[in-house]
Amino acid sequence: MSTLDWLNKQINEVVEELDLSSSVYQILKEPKHCIKVSIPLEKDDGTVETYTGFRSVHSDLLGPGKGGIRFHENVSEEEVVALSMWMTMKTAILKLPFGGAKGGVQIDPSTLSKRELQQLSRQYIQQIEPVIGPQKDIPAPDVNTNGRVMGWMMDEFFKLRGRNIPGFITGKPPVIGGSEGRVEATGKGVVINILEALKKLDMDADQAKVAIQGFGNVGSVTAKSLSEKGMKVTAVADVDTLVYDENGLDIPDMLEYMENNQSLKGYAEEKDPKEIFDIDCDIFIPAALENQITEETAPKIKAKVVAEAANGPTTEKGDDILAENGVFVIPDILCNAGGVMVSAFEWMQNDMHDHWAKEVVNERLEKDMSIAFQEVYDMKEDIDKSMRHAAFYLAVKRLGDAMYARGWVD
Ligand code: GLU
Repeated sequence: MSTLDWLNKQINEVVEELDLSSSVYQILKEPKHCIKVSIPLEKDDGTVETYTGFRSVHSDLLGPGKGGIRFHENVSEEEVVALSMWMTMKTAILKLPFGGAKGGVQIDPSTLSKRELQQLSRQYIQQIEPVIGPQKDIPAPDVNTNGRVMGWMMDEFFKLRGRNIPGFITGKPPVIGGSEGRVEATGKGVVINILEALKKLDMDADQAKVAIQGFGNVGSVTAKSLSEKGMKVTAVADVDTLVYDENGLDIPDMLEYMENNQSLKGYAEEKDPKEIFDIDCDIFIPAALENQITEETAPKIKAKVVAEAANGPTTEKGDDILAENGVFVIPDILCNAGGVMVSAFEWMQNDMHDHWAKEVVNERLEKDMSIAFQEVYDMKEDIDKSMRHAAFYLAVKRLGDAMYARGWVD
């Protein structure tokens, strides 16, 4: 079953369980719109190459569309649509004033020079300009994009509109209206979720061994925060290799290596990154791309807790296997929602022309994320299903209630 089919199956199941009108499913099963754009890019040698990009707004029922932009060679319409649907679920669970959206460009950004990357970012904004705006659809960083890219995109949007509209994009550097704490927000949110889960499972955080797949923004911040809290990160894999030390890795040292080499390759004896699934650990954190925990890899996972820092890391079959093995899964739509939560804080600050101190941002993230975890957990206990099912249940219920309140369904 494709990711999209599984997503729709999960939504439909909840619509039926809640006895909502079938129109709720009909409205949620497709994105509101998904535009496909061609992005001509002038390369450094003067030739022009055209890349394909997308922007999907799945829903703007609870507020403007919201979601990141990824640059990756595997970006497709289907992927962007699925990612935008997950964003709708995420923002609904967190009660943020947003819908769900996502964008992407089909490109391996490591093949571009810095000038080309800036041009591509500007061209993409030019192409999607008609469908974005602070009350319409608000982009942010995602895989292979960051504050630098957001800064270029913001500059391009201001030029196109002829005025300053900082709230049209989040994840900007703080000096141009970004929020303090946004860069670390997703990783910090993952850690808050893990600590809440350990409390519920009566597991001792000091004794827990952690394995992380992915050492990009989310994986590295998560690793750093966990090790600062005294937890033992024993294994980290990036696309090139796996680093392992049963006594706990020196994460600051690895971060420094990463900064200088853009890869963990060469940091230690080279290993197959796929071996991360075989590591003996208590907490497994997929923090890379979709479809990693599958019917092949799920049976190998020894962890008691899987914290989904990536979007869509688990396939339907993988999820069934984790459930059979009694693994407590913190679903992506809750676990990695710290990023979009602080994006909401950024959008609010822009709207109020305000700038919150980092402590204020982190305190609110901690509070709101813990409440969201508790709500999903309580729902799980109530309906006696998985955390993922409970998260969908809460999200779809809110979306259904909003559709009723707005007169879309009876
Ligand atoms: N790309 C992040 C996500 O998948 C953040 C989105 C946002 O901040 O809008 O949740």
